[in-house]
Amino acid sequence: MNPKRIDLHTHTHCSDGTLSPTELIRKAAEAGLAAVAITDHDTTAGIAEAMQAGRKFGVEVIPGVEISAIYPRGTLHILGYYFDMADSDLQLKLREYINARNRRNPLILNLLKKYGYSLEMEEVVSLAGGDVINRPHIAQAMLNRGYVQSNQEAFDRFLGSGALAYVPKEVYTPQESVDIIHEAGGLAVLAHPDQLQSGGLEKTLCEIRTLSEIGIDGIEAFHGKCLTEHAQAFANCAEELGLFLTGGSDYHGDLKHDVELGQVRSLPYIPYEFVERMKTSLADAAHSCC
Ligand SMILES: [Zn+2]
Ligand SMILES: [Zn+2]
Repeated sequence: MNPKRIDLHTHTHCSDGTLSPTELIRKAAEAGLAAVAITDHDTTAGIAEAMQAGRKFGVEVIPGVEISAIYPRGTLHILGYYFDMADSDLQLKLREYINARNRRNPLILNLLKKYGYSLEMEEVVSLAGGDVINRPHIAQAMLNRGYVQSNQEAFDRFLGSGALAYVPKEVYTPQESVDIIHEAGGLAVLAHPDQLQSGGLEKTLCEIRTLSEIGIDGIEAFHGKCLTEHAQAFANCAEELGLFLTGGSDYHGDLKHDVELGQVRSLPYIPYEFVERMKTSLADAAHSCC
């Protein structure tokens, strides 16, 4: 029997992916995936449609979200799973992120204009499928205008952390990000630890140990293009800390050409056991608070 394969990190056009939730789930079914988490940035808008598609195509859809936390260097993202989507406090706090992005986007366009790269907000908005408008859409608009040769170049030269037109937008600390997920009854996972950019693997492992103190439940040890050696070190660290493991491609559709749904470099496939372990953690958490 074929092993059950999954993907716990995907983006739809409700944030900065290119496929609709239905298209993404259909693609997951075609790829033979048994379960997929929709983890759009700062929004749960695509989950209901994805769940409907999941019933149609026979794919288990896990509610998820990805939150960017304030972090002095690199990127610190917290993935949330199995929270209550109807939780009004969660929705209010996610809305704050969308507001922060909306405040940031005109500032980025002003900076780009200053450097001679004019863009209209309308052309950026037209590239988004939902109400999350963010840097990949600006990168795509720059590419469409011929200002850059690739999305990567747009980030490296203009939009990435520390680049010419970079404007920070994070709203919550790592602790607050984890608390938002927990208070809505979900599980909080440290996404792609490699992107913490702590200055080498050993320092990243130290950083993970520190971050474990804020209450993360799991570590996304197996992510996208993360090297196998690093993924294994993250997995060992998770075991040492008593945290569960997850894995995800960080699929964005055509926005990231080298990422395939359901695939990571560090494993032949992402096993369904990761989902089972998350469900056990949820059951344990429910049991311990009763
Ligand atoms: Zn991320
Ligand atoms: Zn992501």
